[in-house]
Amino acid sequence: MAIDMAKMKAKLQELENGGKSKSDNVWWRPQEGDQDIRLVPTEDGDPFKVYHFHYNLGEGARGGVLCPKRQFGENCPICDFASKLWQEGTDDSKKMAKSLFVRQRFFTPVVVRGEEDAGVRVWGYGKTIYETLLGLVLNPDYGDITDVDNGVDFTLTYTLPKTKGAFPQTNLVPKRKSSGLAKNKGAIKEVLEAVPQIDTLFQRKSATEVKAILESFLDPTSGPFSEGSSVSSVDEAIKELSA
Ligand SMILES: [Zn+2]
Repeated sequence: MAIDMAKMKAKLQELENGGKSKSDNVWWRPQEGDQDIRLVPTEDGDPFKVYHFHYNLGEGARGGVLCPKRQFGENCPICDFASKLWQEGTDDSKKMAKSLFVRQRFFTPVVVRGEEDAGVRVWGYGKTIYETLLGLVLNPDYGDITDVDNGVDFTLTYTLPKTKGAFPQTNLVPKRKSSGLAKNKGAIKEVLEAVPQIDTLFQRKSATEVKAILESFLDPTSGPFSEGSSVSSVDEAIKELSA
């Protein structure tokens, strides 16, 4: 059986990062206003990667915790705890349960037009955009929007909220004309070879590790993280999700 080069590349990537996930420069976040982006295909034929996270677990778990249950079919102490809270049925317990329930987040490699030098980065987005993108792919007028020769660029408009507590808005409009991913075959090949392995960007945690995160969140004095969570971090995370 032949060696899977993509897996080898992922291993190398992990090694170069000291066994840790890649640093911040692999992530792309939209800036306020308009930007043109191109979604980049992945080797496995599915550029829309779905991950399940728990958020709002304090400073020790910034960026979220991958849910062992929804992501890997294992036990999840946070899911269990959140359903218990929900069943308690008080306003407070339900509010906290909601903030801890698992959330879906989607990731796709992108090239930002005009910032091609920054390479292929990973864009994380919420369910509404995911539905929009899937809808376009399944629409015969568009089809494979990531096609390296005949795909489409998108104009993404990112609008920050004008009032406090409101959510930022992301609007995606596909270009009328299809285009190539890059200017020639060689450049396209280079882009495709630089697609980050999204799986290596998140740390998989065992049920035991997840339990420790939950415990130190519930009792910040007992765990390694002295900073607890606050209501504002809940708001932040929810804002982030709806973006
Ligand atoms: Zn969970």
